[in-house]
Amino acid sequence: MRQAILSEPRHIELVTRPIPAPGPGEVLMQVRAALTCGTDLKTYRRGHPKVPFGPFGHECAGDVVAVGTGVQHVREGDAVVPMPTASCGRCAPCRRGRENLCERLFDDIVLGAYADYLLVSAKVASTHLLGKPSGLSYIETAFLEPLACVVHAWNRLTPAPVEQVAVVGLGAIGMLQIAMARAYGARVIAMGRRTERLELARELGAHAVVDTEREHAGESVRALTGGVGPDVVIECTGNPTIWMEAPRWAATGGRVVLFAGLTEGMHVAFDATRLHYDEVDIINAFHFRPQDVEQAHHLLATGAIAVRPLVTGVRGLDDLGTVFASLDRGNGVKYAILPEPAAWV
Ligand SMILES: [Zn+2]
Ligand SMILES: [Zn+2]
Repeated sequence: MRQAILSEPRHIELVTRPIPAPGPGEVLMQVRAALTCGTDLKTYRRGHPKVPFGPFGHECAGDVVAVGTGVQHVREGDAVVPMPTASCGRCAPCRRGRENLCERLFDDIVLGAYADYLLVSAKVASTHLLGKPSGLSYIETAFLEPLACVVHAWNRLTPAPVEQVAVVGLGAIGMLQIAMARAYGARVIAMGRRTERLELARELGAHAVVDTEREHAGESVRALTGGVGPDVVIECTGNPTIWMEAPRWAATGGRVVLFAGLTEGMHVAFDATRLHYDEVDIINAFHFRPQDVEQAHHLLATGAIAVRPLVTGVRGLDDLGTVFASLDRGNGVKYAILPEPAAWV
């Protein structure tokens, strides 16, 4: 089998190795489609505090080809979608319903989606290996992981906003946030760069767009919200300047979701008047819990969130290096990587 290895920043190698046999509780999956992701790009550029170098890629869907002893809920031939991680269910955060903060969240992480086959660890296989909804392609199904992260952010925003939401940063996650905001019935302002991304945001239902390269972001977003600012600002750039700006844009009494993480050790500062006297709340959202995964699965299966427009292009496994070099230059939103070249599968 072929497997893509990210051995150091900007170095992807396609190696050939034996197809692994699943041990107890493990599941071997033939990868039918994998997706590039902002986390992958971050790792590609500079490494990642939670994702080690090595087998690359974590968003995929495929077919079960073999199961280890003790695996009951899936069998050979099932079309499935694995999440990269699973919580332990026993540690203090897990017992408090904060499974996304599990002390053992990254133990037995399933990496290596850019490959012909993927071995799903027993920990993940037992809780986070779900069925592919009938009617969805493998490519669409592979959106489960990023959508679960987005669903988690919206669950932290309970009660959900119903009026005006600004999404800043128009990568794949920003686009999914726009789709979620629309599903919640909110009016959405998309803020970002590049004409093609602003157009895609409109296609996904954004009511207005702000070109942050050409406009004064704060003034534009205020003007588009009748001078009051959005109820919720969702930060999806991972840029510390935008983190610090976002509370200035929100309405008085509004909320800011800091979704995109910053480099380890980085510090940011906020306008204390806005946070205290204007009660602008900062909400952080990281990863997902099992219930977020269930909800995301339902949103995909029912077509409430349509992900197809987010796919920039479909490429073969051999093109992975070229795809990441292009993403690195800021081109495209999300690519589907298919081990066996085909159209939508
Ligand atoms: Zn991802
Ligand atoms: Zn735990």
